[in-house]
Amino acid sequence: MKLTPHVHVVGGGRFGFGISGALDCHVYLLDGGSELALVDPGLGLRGDFDRILDNIRADGHDPARIRKLILTHYHCDHIGAAAEAAARLDVEVVASQFAAPAIRSGDAQASALDVAQAAGFYPADFALPPCRVDRELREGDVVRVGDLALTTYETPGHCEGHLSFHFAGADRVYLLGADLVFWGGRILLQNIHDCHIDRYAASVAKIDALVFDALLPGHLQISLGDGHGHVAAAAAAFRQLAVPPNLT
Ligand SMILES: [Zn+2]
Repeated sequence: MKLTPHVHVVGGGRFGFGISGALDCHVYLLDGGSELALVDPGLGLRGDFDRILDNIRADGHDPARIRKLILTHYHCDHIGAAAEAAARLDVEVVASQFAAPAIRSGDAQASALDVAQAAGFYPADFALPPCRVDRELREGDVVRVGDLALTTYETPGHCEGHLSFHFAGADRVYLLGADLVFWGGRILLQNIHDCHIDRYAASVAKIDALVFDALLPGHLQISLGDGHGHVAAAAAAFRQLAVPPNLT
């Protein structure tokens, strides 16, 4: 599903467009002209990644032109399919330096899969397939996707090692925010070991200082025009020492 000249949504579950596995986050395809990148390939239950590939083809793109697999954070609804995607595509896998060891080992504790599974969010028999990470990202690193240059921002709070990416397209400026901030200035605090409200506030303040038009979140509504307004609302709540409304 083409959103803009540079962005397609090619996957998403019941908190998205219902075009791939039910538990999948929004799966974005970035079009940088000479090459493509896939962002967060979803949970990856059997057959789900095939649906994502079908969606890419239906949008007129050849999956063979995808050169990067960008992983925003290690929650399984975002990266469960990473190993399958890395095996089936000709891609460099990029993730945060912090998250890389857990992604490489499929660590159920670090990624909070263990508690999420106990809470019933994922099938009891699901295991996180280990996935190689070819490049580890830190604050300020640039990921090139053809004509697009994505600047990396470390945005912990929702979990440790969470990344957001800022980039300018020919049409508008984008913030790929994953699970940092959602429509209406909502955030996603969870009772898990590496969710920290003070780090969350600092991350939101950092992104609030950027200029951008589109907010590409990991779930729910997408804003192509007033993306910054949603981040600003969360930042304003944090400045008042309050907690922005939570997604759950
Ligand atoms: Zn998450």
